Amino acid sequence: METVKCLIIGGGPAGYTAAVYAARADLSPVLYEGVQPGGQLTTTTDIENYPGFENGISGPALMENMKAQAARLGADIRTGTVTGADLSERPFRIVIDGSTEIAAETLVIATGATAKYLGLPSEKKYMGLGVSACATCDGFFYRKKIVAVVGGGDTACEEASYLAGLCKKVYMIVRRDALRASQAMQDRVMSTENIEILWNCNTKEVLGDDSGVTGVRLEGNDGNTFDIAVDGFFLAIGHHPNSELFSQWVAVDNGGYIITDGKTSATNVPGVFAAGDVQDPLYRQAITAAASGCRAAIDAEKFLKAN
Ligand code: NDP
Repeated sequence: METVKCLIIGGGPAGYTAAVYAARADLSPVLYEGVQPGGQLTTTTDIENYPGFENGISGPALMENMKAQAARLGADIRTGTVTGADLSERPFRIVIDGSTEIAAETLVIATGATAKYLGLPSEKKYMGLGVSACATCDGFFYRKKIVAVVGGGDTACEEASYLAGLCKKVYMIVRRDALRASQAMQDRVMSTENIEILWNCNTKEVLGDDSGVTGVRLEGNDGNTFDIAVDGFFLAIGHHPNSELFSQWVAVDNGGYIITDGKTSATNVPGVFAAGDVQDPLYRQAITAAASGCRAAIDAEKFLKAN
């Protein structure tokens, strides 16, 4: 079985940054990126708040750059999905794609987070037929049409703004009387003419026919039910951390986020470190994910020197 000094799981800003630092520290890191190389950033458009890019940069371009930088410095970047983990003793054993086993002296978990859905049967039924959790992936299909975005956070506002540039009209379905998003995003949404916010509303059902989504049934907090006609229904209600494969071994909080020790990336399992959105319920920014990837690589390097 192949044994590596530092195995990094996850191809997002946290994983790539960990790979950059681990490669420069001569840890010969191996990084596995899963089915969505680049992670959530590949589903965004322009990133204006990643320092160093005066005019912003697209999410996919930023991820390509990080990956290329890690590879140039010597990181071994591979494609494969982790399907099993045994962290009971060192070296840790990780299974890739159900077959390949790899042993790791240290492990950096940077598996990110995944979009949440409402859990309605009708939402499932029309998945890919008008229901989507990624406006930048699927918005194109709704040009000049009417869509709804559920949620009131930064993601919902960003998706609504993006869709407003393509669609005739965008409804935002917000479950209370306020947005959670940053003031800048709230201002952007409020000043966009073709975005209408439906306050105090919950989605009861996604309506559709053989061709896909045709509308949404909403219930106001006053108990009144009404339908709106839409062609697309976009979820933007947050994410859950991709920690399931490891939560048998490493401590996680109530939301499933991996718990790290103080300012470090150390989990409760010595030699296992966590970085990025899988351990961050609070900030969840590309820059904070990258920074935590840096910490994880430095922590792994120190750990290897001491053990
Ligand atoms: P958030 O958790 O911030 O917001 C989720 C939104 O969805 C809230 O408005 C919430 O309502 C609503 N919601 C949750 N569950 C339901 C439900 N079952 N039905 C209806 N509405 C629901 O998630 P985001 O993905 O928006 O943002 C996550 C983090 O990423 C934040 O820290 C955000 O600032 C950051 N971010 C930053 C960006 C940037 O800086 N460019 C871009 C995108 C995200 P309620 O408020 O009532 O709980």
